[in-house]
Amino acid sequence: MDFETRAIHEGQEPDPATGAIITPIYQTSTFVQDAVGEHKGYDYARVANPTRTALQTALASLENAEHGVAFSSGLGATTTLMHLVNPGERVVLIADVYGGVYRMTSQVYEPKGYLFDYLPAAAFANLAEHLDGNTRMVWIESPSNPMLNVVDIRAAAEAAHAVGALVVVDNTFATPYLQNPLDLGADIVLHSTTKYLGGHSDVVGGFVATNDPTIAERLFFLQKSLGAVPGPFDCWLVLRGLKTLAVRMRQHCENARTIAGWLEEQPIVTEVLYPGLESHPGHAIAKRQMRDFGGMISFLTETEDEAVALVARTKLFQLAESLGGVESLIEHPARMTHASTADAPFAAPRNLVRLSVGIESVDDLLADLASALVPAAAHAK
Ligand SMILES: *Cc1c(COP(=O)(O)O)cnc(C)c1O
Repeated sequence: MDFETRAIHEGQEPDPATGAIITPIYQTSTFVQDAVGEHKGYDYARVANPTRTALQTALASLENAEHGVAFSSGLGATTTLMHLVNPGERVVLIADVYGGVYRMTSQVYEPKGYLFDYLPAAAFANLAEHLDGNTRMVWIESPSNPMLNVVDIRAAAEAAHAVGALVVVDNTFATPYLQNPLDLGADIVLHSTTKYLGGHSDVVGGFVATNDPTIAERLFFLQKSLGAVPGPFDCWLVLRGLKTLAVRMRQHCENARTIAGWLEEQPIVTEVLYPGLESHPGHAIAKRQMRDFGGMISFLTETEDEAVALVARTKLFQLAESLGGVESLIEHPARMTHASTADAPFAAPRNLVRLSVGIESVDDLLADLASALVPAAAHAK
């Protein structure tokens, strides 16, 4: 079945007890057993819950995966994956990795003896030179947050597999509607479901999928053993979000394409970072491995002051962290989402602005940006 159909039906049979068309929120911590060890597949809700099972089945299907494992947040999923690595082993990450992931690797795992190398996106073109037999994992974001860098996932997977390293792709920006990293050779795909998959800025969640049965078994073991599990209501919210993912993404992409082109013509904007633009260094790769270019745009202004001032001037684009909801957001990564990267190998440029383009009328969004993007001097008058 096609993506749109699976998003609505996969793992979501009518409730066997009542016929309810929507998967119920199984708000229970435990399940009654007929006799010791005799139950219907559920014994304790940290281990498994039917609402979570429905989400895991549906979302795994959207990533063309056999196995899906849901978590309480994107970082809950990330910390669980770090348990596939041992102290003394290396993890190679894209340098402009999500700020919260960098905070975790540098301040939680590095002090325990884990080794992390942060590679600029451009260096992934010769990834093999940066790997050795001690490299256990390669961590890719493509497109990356907040620089919208694009990595050739297929080529990276080949290089990583040659030294026996696992490839994890954080697919939060692209969503499974636009890109399926497992089909490109990645071993594991990760999502912050807080973003496009939930889609309505009302839930925090994470998700991991794989086609490798050994990895899947270990992940289910880690899910129950480490305990970063999502509650049933949170699973239900993400499940509801999935049903409209395809139509939302089409509108996010269309609006973002229009806005990125318009931004390129604005004198106050010195550079637009959007993989859909021909000027983007990763455009050709993105065209090959994505079905469209997504709803995230970053751009540079002349100065930090200008960037900080303009993010407070928009009205429809609300000043907030996070992304991927139906409503448009604007933010200043260096002081907000990526403040924890200030002293990092990669630090968000001080003059960078990030947009999460929502699905409002694109004319209204353009008018809002137009009123905010006049130079600061003109605004003061
Ligand atoms: C938000 C985000 C995360 C972290 O997810 P949470 O749900 O906030 O824990 C990881 N990766 C990317 C690309 C993100 O945007």
